[in-house]
Amino acid sequence: MKEIMYKSTRSDSAPVTASRAILMGLAEDGGLFVPTEFPVLDKSLSELAKMDYQGVAYEVMKLLLSDFTEKELKSCIRNAYGTSFDTEEIVPLRRAEGAWYLELFHGPTIAFKDMALQILPHLMTTAARKNGENKEIVILTATSGDTGKAAMAGFANVPGTRIMVFYPKNGVSSIQEKQMLTQKGVNTRVVGIRGNFDDAQTEVKRIFSDEALRAEMAEKGFVFSSANSINIGRLVPQIVYYVYGYTRLLEKGVVREGDPVNIVVPTGNFGNILAAYYGARLGLPVGKLICASNSNKVLFDFFTTGTYDRNRDFILTSSPSMDILVSSNLERLLYHISGDDAAATAALMEDLNTKGVYTITDQMKEGLDKFAGGYATEAQTAEAIRRIYDAEQYVIDPHTAVAAHVYGDYRAQSGDGTTALIASTASPFKFENSVMQALGEPAYLPDLELADRLSEKAGVAVPEAVNILRTALIRHNIVCNRNEMKQEVRRFLEL
Ligand SMILES: *Cc1c(COP(=O)(O)O)cnc(C)c1O
Repeated sequence: MKEIMYKSTRSDSAPVTASRAILMGLAEDGGLFVPTEFPVLDKSLSELAKMDYQGVAYEVMKLLLSDFTEKELKSCIRNAYGTSFDTEEIVPLRRAEGAWYLELFHGPTIAFKDMALQILPHLMTTAARKNGENKEIVILTATSGDTGKAAMAGFANVPGTRIMVFYPKNGVSSIQEKQMLTQKGVNTRVVGIRGNFDDAQTEVKRIFSDEALRAEMAEKGFVFSSANSINIGRLVPQIVYYVYGYTRLLEKGVVREGDPVNIVVPTGNFGNILAAYYGARLGLPVGKLICASNSNKVLFDFFTTGTYDRNRDFILTSSPSMDILVSSNLERLLYHISGDDAAATAALMEDLNTKGVYTITDQMKEGLDKFAGGYATEAQTAEAIRRIYDAEQYVIDPHTAVAAHVYGDYRAQSGDGTTALIASTASPFKFENSVMQALGEPAYLPDLELADRLSEKAGVAVPEAVNILRTALIRHNIVCNRNEMKQEVRRFLEL
């Protein structure tokens, strides 16, 4: 099979293998790793339709993680997508209002981050073995709520790894915070910061590229890696469910082989929708990629004007995992639409860093023709939750509701009736206050009582991930300022 190599979006330094890119997380020049070419699926979609999730995962991932052996990759997949999911299908589909909801929240932390973070630790420890890396891997992660818990659930007690998570103290839901603070595992640490997600992410990036700290760590036998969606080891597993979703539609007779589907993705850091774009590059028949934002609509503005401008107020919404003004993975798309021009991409990122704004060329804009952008206000998000419940007795979470609203708008404005897959990124139980409020129910009850009420309303059992919070102990209690984060890292590593 063809070896696919990875290079930085910001310079033309020598390409590295997939396993090396997974270990490094970020390229040395601060850029993101991108594949130097896109192979295409070598099984037909109807062949893939006969396979289970694990089978499809292997067929997709082998293309882009080509330096992993079949045995290595299949072992990673088997370990990741098994009994930690609450359904054998791994990703069930549910039809509502004529669209298909791809339920990506059946993993251990009931948000779609599990799809990649259940497998990343296996990919990373395999990559370490392959590359003769024997230092302890330190995962440093900034989270807007879901990544942190999902990363810890994946890495907890994995030998040879430690994981440290920073989250905005007042920017996550009550269930999200409880999930993180009760995290077990001798190698885990959670720290709340007085600031928002962008503050946490910016500082993590800075600590990550602190040469003096890296050198000191190396001496003590530690090496940083990243579990954020900038890691190619997170992106590649996310392509799988779009291919899988398509093949289930094929199996149900909803589409015929080769028919395009539109994919609607509630977007924050741009990882999930980029995975759908990569799916299209691998040969998945995709019509439009519809990027749904909440009130932090920096991406909607970008898709409509070609200007990305982060100079605006950061708004806390009911879909906190999308409260982001700097969507890191967009850098990869910029690189691809610039015709793989690292210098041009680096210049745009430089503008973003120094001025907080950049504008792409008209030629690059043409590369965005597969994308459509939309956004939902808080009222529209709540309205979508209620409308879909009233019509279908189906309860969706606020992130998914943003996508549902944007899709409704898109369809009405474009008249495009192509079959649509909507990425359903979280269980409503994770955001139960906002959901119950939207449904006109009492919302300010103790978390677990509220979960019971939502369960009755939705006709869905309380997920195990929430049930265990009934008796779980709080194990983490550190809160710090942004400028104290590095000190917390040192303390965790006992430097
Ligand atoms: C992370 C997250 C998103 C945003 O995904 P990106 O890949 O960051 O665009 C949307 N919804 C939920 C529930 C999430 O956890």
